[in-house]
This record gives sequence, structure tokens and C-alpha cells, in this order.
Amino acid sequence: MTGGTSPSNPPSVTPLFHPTSIAVIGASRDRESIGGRLFNNIINADFNGPVYPVNPKTPLVRSIPTFASVVDIPGHVDLAFVVVPAGLVVDVVRECADKGVKGVVVISAGFSETGDAGAAMERELLAIVREAGMRMVGPNCMGLLNTDPAVRLDGQFGPIMPRRGNVSMSSQSGALGLAILDYATELNIGIATFVSVGNRADVSGNDLLLYWEDDPSTEVILLYLESFGNPERFARIARRIARKKPIIAVKSGRTSAGARAASSHTGSLANLDVATDALFRQAGVIRVSTLEELFDVTSLLALQSPPRGNKVGIVTNAGGPAILAVDALESLGLEVPVLSDELQRELRNFLSDDAAVGNPVDMIAAAGPDQYRQAIEALLASDEIDSLMALFIPASDVGISETATAIRLAGEACPDDKTFLCVYMQSGGAPTELSSSDVGFPTFAFPERAAQALRKATTYQQWLSTPEGAIVEFDDIDVDRARTIVESATRSVGVEGGWLEPTAVDTVLKAYGLAIPASKVVSSSAEAVVFANEIDGSAVLKVIAPSAVHKSDVGGVALDVSGPNAVATAYKTVTAAVEDAEGVLVQEFVPGGHEVLIGMVEDPTFGPLIVFGLGGVFVELIGDVAFRIHPLTDRDAREMVSEVKSAKLLEGYRGGEPGDIDAVIDTLLRISAMISDLPEIFEMDLNPVKVGTPGAGVRIVDARIKIRKAARGPQ
Ligand code: ADP
Ligand code: MG
Repeated sequence: MTGGTSPSNPPSVTPLFHPTSIAVIGASRDRESIGGRLFNNIINADFNGPVYPVNPKTPLVRSIPTFASVVDIPGHVDLAFVVVPAGLVVDVVRECADKGVKGVVVISAGFSETGDAGAAMERELLAIVREAGMRMVGPNCMGLLNTDPAVRLDGQFGPIMPRRGNVSMSSQSGALGLAILDYATELNIGIATFVSVGNRADVSGNDLLLYWEDDPSTEVILLYLESFGNPERFARIARRIARKKPIIAVKSGRTSAGARAASSHTGSLANLDVATDALFRQAGVIRVSTLEELFDVTSLLALQSPPRGNKVGIVTNAGGPAILAVDALESLGLEVPVLSDELQRELRNFLSDDAAVGNPVDMIAAAGPDQYRQAIEALLASDEIDSLMALFIPASDVGISETATAIRLAGEACPDDKTFLCVYMQSGGAPTELSSSDVGFPTFAFPERAAQALRKATTYQQWLSTPEGAIVEFDDIDVDRARTIVESATRSVGVEGGWLEPTAVDTVLKAYGLAIPASKVVSSSAEAVVFANEIDGSAVLKVIAPSAVHKSDVGGVALDVSGPNAVATAYKTVTAAVEDAEGVLVQEFVPGGHEVLIGMVEDPTFGPLIVFGLGGVFVELIGDVAFRIHPLTDRDAREMVSEVKSAKLLEGYRGGEPGDIDAVIDTLLRISAMISDLPEIFEMDLNPVKVGTPGAGVRIVDARIKIRKAARGPQ
């Protein structure tokens, strides 16, 4: 049961967040029980509407008369919390439907998380909910809350009602959700709404994203994810919403991609958490790997707009921490530019002679409130930086409050086109001037964490300011020809699948307008000599054998062969390298150029993944690759080529030959089109694609395509 099963036109989840009246079915006098804690939280938060305890076994809960059943309540009930043993939930929810309740939050556990019987009960619940047009959170969840002063709904059973703020969150783990609320409160992150989604039988994370998209109280969205119900729908929704509000996600657990058989370069590269990374990157979702980072990035984006660019200014009263900050920023690809002479002169006007004004602006330990204020103002007013980090390390207990106040006032006057943050380093934590809930910028305890948060926020802004890509249509593709080849081949490979034979591979590539060297499969030395003679320039001979997965590993490839004698010898050598030679591929030798890999592998959850990397036969060793989820936009293809560390090689590194990058991008997009057209393809390795100089194009010299009868899985 996942978000993917939601009705296409879902009833609004609004009643879940803005109920006019609440019933707590299973409200308990026992303050320690879940039903007791939940009921108390709702009462203690002063919910803005009537709350009805339902419990046939006791006349009163917290001095409030109970009802035996939800149907006995005289007034209307908008939202019902269900905290009864699993076996009673179906009946209780049916009564809610009879009563005209609009939303139910099923806290009770014992459903699909426990096995088949539980899953059957969960399906029954869902059927009742759908039939009645209700929405359901859970089952097996911790509840939800809305801090809106007009609502004041603390519908969860943990001890903490966080303070009001602009951050909304959904959590797939109930316990972790509790911990997150706890830390958020500690770290002064204000919450708008929070939902523990439990088993997601009805309301999914995607439904919540859709609600938050237009919820004026929500400015930052946090997701704690363990699995995706429907990654394709998530990607579509998130991509749209991330343009309006930052989405920050922690994804725990690894995908099952690692279990895939590694029969190709691409397959063995896809064994990490690449699919989730690709999905988030394509959708503009900010991925964080730890909860600490989640809070750091959240506190930055909840209070400040993301940096417009890479340039960071630093003001400090101590050199050491500033150096740590510079190291951290630069290693993350941010820049700490030297300030202009003009700006340096301006700073000199009010800083002591011992101060360094280049950036970091080190005002040394004597710096007081005036220096901080003036330096921050001068830097924020300049166009030489995009964000400013103020470091403050108190040298003594004297004057902390004054300096903190000066930093606060100057930082809060930060113009909209700049990002301001503070680092206060002392074990006791920041003084209230920098840590109270109404401070307009975040204060971090360490420069490295501030740098990391800035990096993530900057990357997000870069994503925002890059135009959305488009899927490119080609009008020179012969789909029918490719389809005929693939369909006839699937007849012999069955559902398990198998590799297309070399001639078929060539035909398919050609049908997609992809360049391959002249080649021919031969079965005798004499034939090899004849064909090699027809080739312009020298030849390459490659053995064709089921055992030779990577031909050069077994000595099955002879390169740059010319002349009849050499060809005949090469024929003998490559066929002798294996015991099951079925023939030899004679190919035109393509000299020079860079070697890149383009591949595709199918992820069981995410559908086809496309990979790009440099390195030819060394690609697995180097592991410098970029993954994207199919289909590729022109933006995806361009970013894949530029994001690998070795991208500089293709641009012509240190006097090396540059490569035809446009032709590589074109190849990626044509491969993406091929994968869209031919769902039988489930694995592909073009390794290497030889890249000529700009304008010279690329040539695919080794290609393997795996097909099977069954159409592709999730897409
Ligand atoms: P395999 O990957 O099965 O070992 P390849 O066909 O990729 O076999 O050949 C191995 C290497 O030989 C390639 O990575 C490439 O460096 C080189 N090579 C292969 N075919 C050609 C060709 N037609 N022109 C130039 N170099 C080639
Ligand atoms: Mg190869």
C-alpha cells in the first residue's frame, strides 16, 4: 500500500490539518498509555474546537464525559484519532464513516507491518475510507500536529509540542519523528505542521507535498524517507514544488540495486545509492545524509534565502577558526574571494592596523560591537560576496552580550540578495542574543557545519536558477527498424533475457543515428583479411564468445592491425584466447580521442538509470560517474557530462585534446530516446564511446545491449 494507489482526484487532506472538531477513540484515563497521552496533548494544546473522548469502558477522561461510540456524539466530528487494539480498528473506522467523519488518524499498530493478516485488515480499512471519501493517516503512526494558532492541534503522543514556525515535515519513522520534534525545539526550528505517516495506506508523503505546496504556513519542507511508494510520482511532484519551497530529505536505507548481477560495467557501478541520489538531484530535492545536517540546512533555509552564488565573505575575531572555515568552504567548492582594494580601504577606516582585511576579515581579538557591526554592514552592502559568515569566539566573558547584539542587528539587516549566518564557538552555546527564537538568521556551533549548510543551500539555488530541461525528440530515428530487430530477438531470449548479437546491436544503434565504425562479423581468417582490406586504415579484431564478457580481459582484442599477414595472425590470436569462439568482429580502428562510458541499467524501484563516465576499461576502478533516472532532459545530459570530476579532460586539460562534448550529449539523449521506445532493453553498456575533437563526433566502438521479453518494470 503506497502513495501510488491514491485516487487520481483525492479528497483534500485539509480536514486533517484544520479540523473543526475531534474525537479520540480510545482516549484513556491512564496518562501513561498512548490513548491517554494523545488525549492529554490535544487538551493541553487548547485545540480550537470541541474534543470528544470515546471510550465505552469509562464515564470520564480528564473530567470530560465520554461516549461509548463515535456515532453517539451529538455534534459533528471532523477528525477522529483511533487508538484501539488492531482487531477493533476496522469497526471503529466504519463507525467513523457512518458518522460522516472526514479524516481519521489511525495510531494503532498491527497491520501490514506485521504480515499477511495485518495487510488484509489494512486493505479493508482502506476500502472503507475510500468508499466514504475520507482520508486516513496511518495506520501504525504517531499522529500529526498543526501549530497554527487558529487550530492548535497537537495530535501526537510524544511529549513535545514544538513552537510555531515555517517548517513542515513528514516522517516515515514514528520514533524518529519524535526525536526530530525534540531536536527541532532544542535548535529553535519552528514547525508549521508535522505528520507521522506510518504505513501510508492512504495518505502518502506525496499527498502531503501537494498540501504543503499551497499551504501559506509552510516555507520549508522536510522529509524523512525510508522507502518510496511511487518514485515516479514523487519526482514529478517534488520537481514542481521544489521550485517554490525548498524540500530537504533524509533517505535512510539503501536501494536493492546492489543485489543486481554485475554482468556489465554499468551494472557493477550502480551498486551504490545512486538511484535515490539521481532522483533527488533531478527533482531539486536537497539530500542530507545525517540528521545533524538536516537541522543545519533547515535552520539556514527556514531563516534566510539561499545564496545567489558561490562567493562567501567571512568576518571573525580569531584567525584559526576562520582558516577552518575557509578550508571547509573551499573543499566544498565555494569561494572565499579576496576583497577589492576599495572595500579593503573602507574596512581599514574603522579596523585596527593589525586587522587583516583581505577575506577573511580578521578583526583580531580586540574587535568589539562597533567593528562587527561596521564590517558586517560594509560586506553585506558590497557586490563582491553572495553570503557572509560572521565568526565570533569570545575571548573573555566581558562584552559578549554587546557584541552579540551588534552582530544580530547588523545580520538582521541583511538585504534579500545576500545570505547571512553566524558561528558562535563556545562550549556553553550561543547567548540568547543569537539563539532566541526570533533571531532572523541561524547560528552554528562550528564553521564546518555552517559551510556544509551553505554548500547545500547554494547548490539548491543553482538548481533553481538553471532553466528546466526538456526531453529532446529526434526526427531522424528509424524506430520501426530498431523495433523489428529487438522484437525478433526477444523470441529467442525469453523472460530471463539475453544479449543482442553484435550485428543486431549495430543495426539498432544506426537506427538511432548513432555512429559506429565500419564492422563485420566473420568466421574465417580469409574473410577477416578481405574485410580488413576494405577498411580505410587499420583494423581491430575482437573475438565473439559467450565466455568473453570483457573481451580484452582474456586477450580477445587485437588493435591497430594492418596488412593481410597481421590480420591473419590477429585472427588466430583472438580466437585462441577462448575455448568457445563463435566468430570474430572485424572493425575499423578509431585512433586517438577520449574514451567514455554510456550505460543503462534497470533499477527495480526507479526504472532505468543512465550512467556516464570517463575512463574506458578503468571506469569501475575510478568510479567517477554520473547517474540519472530515465528519461533524460537536455539539462540532465549536459549536467552529467560536466559533473564528473574528470570532465576537465574533455574540455582539454593541460594542453590535452578537447573532446566533442556536444556529440556526447547528443549520444546520451539518443540513448534515452531508445530506452523510451524499446522497453525490452534492460541493460546496456557502450564502453568505450570514442570521443573525437570538437566537431569530429563520437564513435561507439564497443556496445552491448541486453533485452528480455517482459516489458520494463516501474517507470
Ligand atoms: P571489451 O570491453 O570487451 O574488453 P572493447 O571492444 O571495449 O572490448 O575493446 C577494449 C578496448 O580496446 C577499448 O576500451 C578501446 O580502448 C580499444 N578499442 C576497441 N575497439 C576499438 C576501435 N575500433 N578503435 C580503437 N580502439 C578500440
Ligand atoms: Mg568495452
